[in-house]
Amino acid sequence: MQNIMKRLFAFALVLLSLQTALAQQQALQTPAQFLGYTLGQEFTTHARITDYVLYLAQQAPNRIKVQEYGKTYEGRPLLLAYVASDENLPRLEQIRENNLRQAGIASGQVEGKQPAILWMSYNIHGNESVSSEAVLQVLYDLVDPNNQQTKKWLENTVVILDPCVNPDGRERYVQWYKQTQNRGGNASPYAWEHYEPWPGGRPNHYYFDLNRDWAWQTQIESKQRMAQYNQWLPQVHADFHEMGPEQPYYFSPAAKPLHESITPWQRDFQYTIGDYNRKYFDQNNWLYFTRENFDLFYPSYGDTWPTFNGAIGMTYEQGGSGRAGLAYKKQDGDTLTLTDRIAHHHIASLATLQATAEKADQLTQEFRKYYDNNLKKPGGDYKTFVFKADARSAGNLKALTDYLDQQQIQYGYAGKNSSAKGYNYATGKEENVKVSQNDLVVSMYQPKSTLVKVLFEPNSNLEDSLTYDITSWAMPYAFGVQAYALKSRLEAGSQKPAKTATAIKVERPFAYLARWNSLQDVKFLTELMAQKVKVRMSEKPFEMEGKQYDAGTLIITRTGNEGMGDKLDVVVRATAEKHGVLLQASTTGFVSSGADFGSGSVRFLKMPKVAVMSGEGVSPYAFGEIWHYFEQQIGYPVTVLGTNYFANVPLHEFDVLILPAGSYGRVLNEQTLEQVKNWVRGGGKLIVLESAAGFLAGKKDFNLQKKNGEEASEKEKAKETKEDPYRLLRAYGDRERDAISEDVQGSVFRVNLDKTHPLAFGYGDTYYALVRTSDTFSFMKDGWNVGVLKKDNYATGFVGTKAKERLKDALILGTQPMGRGQVVYLADNPLFRGFWHNGKLLFGNAVFLVGQ
Ligand SMILES: [Zn+2]
Repeated sequence: MQNIMKRLFAFALVLLSLQTALAQQQALQTPAQFLGYTLGQEFTTHARITDYVLYLAQQAPNRIKVQEYGKTYEGRPLLLAYVASDENLPRLEQIRENNLRQAGIASGQVEGKQPAILWMSYNIHGNESVSSEAVLQVLYDLVDPNNQQTKKWLENTVVILDPCVNPDGRERYVQWYKQTQNRGGNASPYAWEHYEPWPGGRPNHYYFDLNRDWAWQTQIESKQRMAQYNQWLPQVHADFHEMGPEQPYYFSPAAKPLHESITPWQRDFQYTIGDYNRKYFDQNNWLYFTRENFDLFYPSYGDTWPTFNGAIGMTYEQGGSGRAGLAYKKQDGDTLTLTDRIAHHHIASLATLQATAEKADQLTQEFRKYYDNNLKKPGGDYKTFVFKADARSAGNLKALTDYLDQQQIQYGYAGKNSSAKGYNYATGKEENVKVSQNDLVVSMYQPKSTLVKVLFEPNSNLEDSLTYDITSWAMPYAFGVQAYALKSRLEAGSQKPAKTATAIKVERPFAYLARWNSLQDVKFLTELMAQKVKVRMSEKPFEMEGKQYDAGTLIITRTGNEGMGDKLDVVVRATAEKHGVLLQASTTGFVSSGADFGSGSVRFLKMPKVAVMSGEGVSPYAFGEIWHYFEQQIGYPVTVLGTNYFANVPLHEFDVLILPAGSYGRVLNEQTLEQVKNWVRGGGKLIVLESAAGFLAGKKDFNLQKKNGEEASEKEKAKETKEDPYRLLRAYGDRERDAISEDVQGSVFRVNLDKTHPLAFGYGDTYYALVRTSDTFSFMKDGWNVGVLKKDNYATGFVGTKAKERLKDALILGTQPMGRGQVVYLADNPLFRGFWHNGKLLFGNAVFLVGQ
């Protein structure tokens, strides 16, 4: 009896689920039906966006597939939706492989008819919140079985949509908006809901701008997304954004400067896509602009990076962003609503699909040609890049090869000794180059040669200097490796050089030695500290058992670590292995030259308690870079302090206090600054970066002085007027262009180092800095001028004439002893966007070596 009941019950369940499935199939729910409100009436949370995307995949499995490709730092899912025709969806994997074959990245012949691939990314800037609303409507249109138009476009196009690239940022904005909004939204531009609080929803969890991270991929969102992107390499990539609410809409063609590596075809197609968009915007009487503001130069945007990977890359910008809320009354009296903003991005998405579909054959053909040229006829003067391998460069080279792997850039090793002519990045001259067998070689004869050229060439040719981002990023400087660019083609073997056997033959040595040259070594040190291993550091270079060691070499003696017994050897060796650090062992504490291990200049390194300032007034980006450095790059504990209660923090709880760039007038008033100084005098170490250093310059007890004070600039003006009496008669139309003579937008400069100072350990005589401001400092009379610019230290990138003048004879890195403590001035930000690998050791020096 019980059995029958069970069966009946099961039967009823089957009937019920069949019925629901049927009903659902009959009517695919629109976003409004699913969410319970019309798009635009309120903001949709990320959880609900995810729900709807998954709902569509469940309802229309013949049209859409959804993949969770990762999670954000805060644990939110990252999704990709693949939409294709009934014929193409089951063969997605074949289409993907075909596409890589077209690019010469996978081997084999293209099988079956190959559609074009369009990738659209939404909401990479979290508070540009319309994008993830619009994409729900776009998805519905693509999946709706009754939509004949999209059905037709999908016949020869596969669409990949990332509904929300930056869920953590978006959710920060959306939750805040919901908490502060008037019911239904208040259009008054003065309403609270239009003033986002610090830090704003634009960046991700660590306050990185993900739309500056496409090429560097320092963030977990970018890393996971680009791994997928590289599996697909679409022909078209569209990136959906927002700008200020007073502006209407922007679509391609892009503004100048366009990077010279962008092909004529890619330039032309910017116009083609623009025409498709224009048609719809004109029909609706919507305003827009093209060819202004959004250039294609800096390689780490969602338009440029895809462009350098063979796609047509585009930015779309709607007026709105974190300012506009549900409704916003503009200066012209019109009210901009979320509904309007959705409509624009929705149309632009469909216009992009239409353009891709109607030009699919041409797009795939040109894509093939692009990659074929990359492989056989690479552009640019240089055909080979050589990176020198030596004992000092191992850590940085490892970081470089990891980066190349991430980018799918092929590389090899010279395999034999030879000589060639090449451009030396360090001297800026053509020289004879001795290539050694273990040197790393990147050839331009490979599918991704355009990307190689853009990332590695010493000088990027800037056709027009009005770009709004950094103008130089040459990777040899960023990775701090000695490099040459060769005009000749050099064949490289793929064979990795055999690992040089570790030198440790002694079972229980007197001490272990580790050189100090890269971020890997910082990780090694901090992990030993965390395991309670006592580590010393030699302040002087020394020679021992026939080997030379630079200042900064770490020394782990048995003395002081007796408590660990034999575990010491296990821990030290395992930690070195983990971080790729080459250990040496010594049987004595006696050195043939330099200071013996018992000398006062072999310093014990105390494990510092570190605090960093955050909150209102501090630049979220600058703070985030430091936060990310400690938590994600070296895995070291850091305490984040807020400006709003800083005055009440007992500073003696900490050894190091870091002030990122920001405006400190409010938090460091006279009284609080006095507390900070007293703490430094008592032995604290204050590390100040960029504008935080500028804030302290000229203040009582701080020895830093601004170089370009008002006095200097008055002098400069007087001199100019003398040279040209009509100097003041400038043309109004030239005002933007005139302003750039004052600019340095991120250019590479050679910094001369005092290599005997711990702040410079591990670098030798020079460090290449990415300088982004001409607000510089004079050499200090009292204190250590550790890193300076002299007369002729410019390396590459755009610098305005006036700015270039100011960047002569300037202090970049300095320290000042104060009582028993230290102040460290970093005028340049070595952690900028987390991609200047070579700066990370410098920052480690400031935190872990200086003042020990
Ligand atoms: Zn944006």
